[in-house]
Amino acid sequence: MRRVRLVGVLCVAVAAALALRGYLGTMQPVERSDILMDTFIRVRVYGRGADAAAQAALDEFRHLERLLNPYDEGSELAAINRSAGKGPVKVSPETFEVIEQAVRFAESSGGAFDPTVLPLVKAWGFSGTPRVPAREELATARALVDYRSVALDKASMTVGLLRNGMGLDLGAIAKGYATDRAVAVLRARGVKSALIDAGGNVFALGRKPLGFRRSSEWVVGIQHPRQSSEYLARIRLENETAVTSGDYQRYFEADGVRYHHIIDPRTGYPARGLTSVTVVGASSTAADALSTTVFVLGERPGAEFLGRMAGFGAVLVTEGGGITVTGNLESKTEAITPP
Ligand code: AMP
Ligand code: MG
Repeated sequence: MRRVRLVGVLCVAVAAALALRGYLGTMQPVERSDILMDTFIRVRVYGRGADAAAQAALDEFRHLERLLNPYDEGSELAAINRSAGKGPVKVSPETFEVIEQAVRFAESSGGAFDPTVLPLVKAWGFSGTPRVPAREELATARALVDYRSVALDKASMTVGLLRNGMGLDLGAIAKGYATDRAVAVLRARGVKSALIDAGGNVFALGRKPLGFRRSSEWVVGIQHPRQSSEYLARIRLENETAVTSGDYQRYFEADGVRYHHIIDPRTGYPARGLTSVTVVGASSTAADALSTTVFVLGERPGAEFLGRMAGFGAVLVTEGGGITVTGNLESKTEAITPP
């Protein structure tokens, strides 16, 4: 009789220990980070198998960086660029897919977003030492930027650039694409709750566990474009991404003028009017392409353009400091009053 009771007590203790372990497992996330795709990437995962899942998500970023970095001579993107004007290059399905999507966004934006922007990025020295290029140099580079000269052949999985000197730069979409792929890796492993922060790209998977079956939406801050330690607003996210394009993310100053890395292909110069655009929606690939597009289009045309895209909202900050919130985002966004 005593033995039976002892076994019973032991069973209850083991069950309690297991429950506590499970509970702590959902409460305490695993965090993995690395510098990849030119930015600091952090993956936070809750629940069972979090360790391996976080690692696998980071590995996906690493894999895509190897394919898509135009400055790495061993990448598929560099191979396409070397072959510009010479012929198509066979690529992996991931490389094909992200270029196909980039070209689609270029078409829908009328070229405000253009993945063949590399000659302009190089002219401004954003690939090395930044400088203001001479007008003729800009004109030559601008003439080489044309998404209509990208030849895609899905049957043979090849990509070609039709003119010598052209070059692809997927800096405005690759992090979003990698984020979506990393989220897919997490979901395939059964992860219900995670946060991926890839520089200006955040994805909030599920809800944030608070313990004892409680949870909340994730909250991300929109950085003040001129004061890096301050936030302008907070956005609540659940199974959504928030992607920011900002003129403060990469820039230089010459003769008192600020030149940043988001270039208007129509002029060849950094786009003017906005200092930051955050796009929220379900797809990080799309939000990444759209935030760059809206930045280039400027406040009014940008907001109108986004209004035609179902399922996306944005927070736009103008050079004058004005803030515009579009789409269904108003209910999820709170402004932070400066101190
Ligand atoms: P993002 O931070 O996503 O707005 O992307 C900016 C990066 O995309 C730049 O550093 C360039 O590599 C590239 N880029 C600059 N201007 C454009 C443009 N108009 N369309 C597509 N990519 C661009
Ligand atoms: Mg972008």
